[in-house]
Amino acid sequence: MEHQAFKALKDKVCVITGGGGVLGTSMAHGLASAGVITVILDINEEAAKKLASDITSDMGVKSYGYKANVLDRASLEEVRKQILEEVGEMDMLINGAGGNSPKATTKLEQITEEELDQLEDGFFGLELEGFQKVFDLNFTGTLLPTMVFARDMVARQKGVVLNVSSMNAYKPLTKIPAYSAAKASVNNFTEWLAVHFAKVGVRVNAIAPGFFLTNQNRFLVTDEQTGALTPRGEKIISNTPMGVFGEPEDLNGTVLFLLSDMSNFITGICIPVDGGYSAFGGV
Ligand code: NAD
Repeated sequence: MEHQAFKALKDKVCVITGGGGVLGTSMAHGLASAGVITVILDINEEAAKKLASDITSDMGVKSYGYKANVLDRASLEEVRKQILEEVGEMDMLINGAGGNSPKATTKLEQITEEELDQLEDGFFGLELEGFQKVFDLNFTGTLLPTMVFARDMVARQKGVVLNVSSMNAYKPLTKIPAYSAAKASVNNFTEWLAVHFAKVGVRVNAIAPGFFLTNQNRFLVTDEQTGALTPRGEKIISNTPMGVFGEPEDLNGTVLFLLSDMSNFITGICIPVDGGYSAFGGV
């Protein structure tokens, strides 16, 4: 089904990094439903190519898949050349690649008096390597593709960059300090770049998804055997006023809005798509 409100997006080209992942796949379908030509970039070449071929055959809208590493400038420059030759000028970029690492995750939510002999399960057991990985993927992995793909947009004085942040950017969740700080840096960078590009027709915004059941978090929030909520899953649901996890398609309206001319006067913001999570004080 084509979204009439987003008609002008038809045949525009959008690059999606991490496009082979759960949310990227859903966003790519949402974009294709508005006639956008999607360019799926992923370090997982098979996932990128399969998604592009599925969209092209199932939806009748062109889609292209390429292997690219958001942390490797040469790989991004190479793929940019290929896209220019095989697809055309890029109008939009979604920086979707991101994620956490177990090496940057504590076992404990808080240190209590009873756990003073197991400090390694908390802050003191975190590995610098894990922090570096998570900052690289979420922050540098947003910075580098923007450097490579937004240059042509600035030269043409038209384009949109959309970063993928998280609820953790506003208030860090327990256990995942690196991911939280890295996503906060994505919000800060979104504002900085929006101002920097504001006079040359390139808008920069972000979305902050709330809690979606995806491969990354499924077994942290639901029991593998029974499918019932874990205590952490219960906490999330009781702090989400709508009382449910988001479905990946729930992001698509906001994504289309921020990419389209309907949001022409909007730059430098981050829209939560979170079932009310960020509005709730917990009581
Ligand atoms: P996912 O793991 O399903 O997708 C991430 C994709 O990025 C994968 O296909 C992976 O192969 C790819 N990738 C990883 N490293 C890469 C690299 N160096 N270069 C290129 N591609 C690389 O994750 P997801 O749940 O779909 O999350 C997508 C984005 O949404 C991430 O930025 C994540 O932090 C954010 N997010 C997710 C949730 C959630 O509930 N799932 C909530 C808030 C924000």
